Amino acid sequence: MKIGLVTYTPEKVPGYEMHVYYSKWADGQAFPAAKHMQNDATCFCDAKAIREDPSIAAVSKQGAALRKNRLFNMPFDYVCPTHPQYRQKVLDYVKSLNRENIEGVTMNLYHFPDQEFCICPRCLKLWKESGLEWVDWRAKVVTEFLAEAKALTKGTFAVEMFPDPLMAKERFGIDFEAIAPLVDYFHVPLSSRDYLTNYWVDLLTRDFIKLLKKPVVVELSGEMLNDEKTDALLKTVAYLSRHDLLGVLLLVHDSENAKQIAKFAVQDSGFRNWLSRYELPEMTRIVENWEKIYKE
Ligand SMILES: [Zn+2]
Repeated sequence: MKIGLVTYTPEKVPGYEMHVYYSKWADGQAFPAAKHMQNDATCFCDAKAIREDPSIAAVSKQGAALRKNRLFNMPFDYVCPTHPQYRQKVLDYVKSLNRENIEGVTMNLYHFPDQEFCICPRCLKLWKESGLEWVDWRAKVVTEFLAEAKALTKGTFAVEMFPDPLMAKERFGIDFEAIAPLVDYFHVPLSSRDYLTNYWVDLLTRDFIKLLKKPVVVELSGEMLNDEKTDALLKTVAYLSRHDLLGVLLLVHDSENAKQIAKFAVQDSGFRNWLSRYELPEMTRIVENWEKIYKE
């Protein structure tokens, strides 16, 4: 199992083996490609584009997929996935990333906001023309979009998802079976403010490993600032290291944050004693590698 990072800055940190850079954000900011890194592109969540043209938002009978619509609990503002110009804008961005020497592209938020979406006149027309059931048509829209992005990507192609192993297709249009042939791995974000309660991380990881027909990478939030939370995060990574994962990624503020986690793992005697009591060879390998770099 590799240990890696998801970062907002295009820099690698010693001791970490996978590097994902958030290159396009849900607020609408898009940055130049980070070379030799996996570039993570938010697709249909774009608050800035919706501010400029509210008509591009995904809609339902209960209104648009926007954070300000209190009938839903939307984490972001969603563009309709069939909007032709916006769709092309995202694909052009993926193309621009691939003009640089990148490791690959990870697609994020490339799906419908939820099962009631999108009933704009264009989506209803396309659905009727397709002759498919509603759930199958939405999944086809999402899978075809990913196939177009994959065709533009020369390196590693990965997708994130909402971490719902059961209802992903009917809610978001994410058809894991159909997507699996397109991707090199699935990136499952299991974000939390802390991992002091962590049974659900292990539970969902096992579900996804069983379900997904490609390698799995799990992302945990690493933006912890106190020892108790860092200890809980590292123990959660250690438990995950027993499973057949390609990697665990830690989302961090910056490289200093990433170094602090590694230093804690190396220098905290309580954590080291805990680790030495269990048969966790993959986590032990990671910490021994960190020890070479972060001893002092
Ligand atoms: Zn629509």
